[in-house]
Amino acid sequence: MIENEAELIQKNLNQIEDEIPEDVVLCAVTKYHDLDETKEVIKNGIKDLGENKVQDLMKKIDQINEPVHWHMIGHLQTNKVKYLIDKVYLIQSVDSLKVLRKINNESKKKDKITDVLIQYNLTGEDQKFGFLEEETKDWINEAQNLDNVNIRGIMGMGPNTDDKEQIRQVFHNLKEIYDRINENYNLSNIHMEILSMGMSGDYPIAIEEGANLIRVGSKIFN
Ligand SMILES: *Cc1c(COP(=O)(O)O)cnc(C)c1O
Repeated sequence: MIENEAELIQKNLNQIEDEIPEDVVLCAVTKYHDLDETKEVIKNGIKDLGENKVQDLMKKIDQINEPVHWHMIGHLQTNKVKYLIDKVYLIQSVDSLKVLRKINNESKKKDKITDVLIQYNLTGEDQKFGFLEEETKDWINEAQNLDNVNIRGIMGMGPNTDDKEQIRQVFHNLKEIYDRINENYNLSNIHMEILSMGMSGDYPIAIEEGANLIRVGSKIFN
């Protein structure tokens, strides 16, 4: 770690936690940061950590003994799904039926039920992964027969813009989808409990629009 980084991490985390309501979970995204930096975050009481690459995530799980919740937040290749089962707390980035089915199959092999979120892409940006609003019925139809996944909510990103109203609109739409699923479907393995939206640049807006889990990386370390 660079000099004074521990102090910086502590200061940033205190500031973020002062700002967010108690019932909003702060998932610290440590994806560009090494073991020491990650441990520093944990020392400050953070219990939820997010990584976007399977390899980095597995390395940290192996080398960090503290009982934290590990979140997978990046695009998943199906051939890597097996490594995550029984290791992670939540896979937030289920962005296709193929990945959902694979998580179910690998979980079944290990006699486990894996908690996941369904990722939406409401930004219209091609480089982002996720389901479209009109694909909701498709994944629900499929998921209700998958006994080894437990769908606990949805995840999404804001658009890459400075236009706050545009960002707010996307978060608002995500909350509407979340509420609609909650109202219209009563299924044993689909429960809307977690609305994961908001990153360093836009989490205050996400919280105003109903996020109860935010994923913050750069603001902790800069
Ligand atoms: C990197 C990343 C974040 C954190 O982004 P920051 O802007 O660094 O806070 C959140 N969610 C996902 C899916 C990410 O890949």
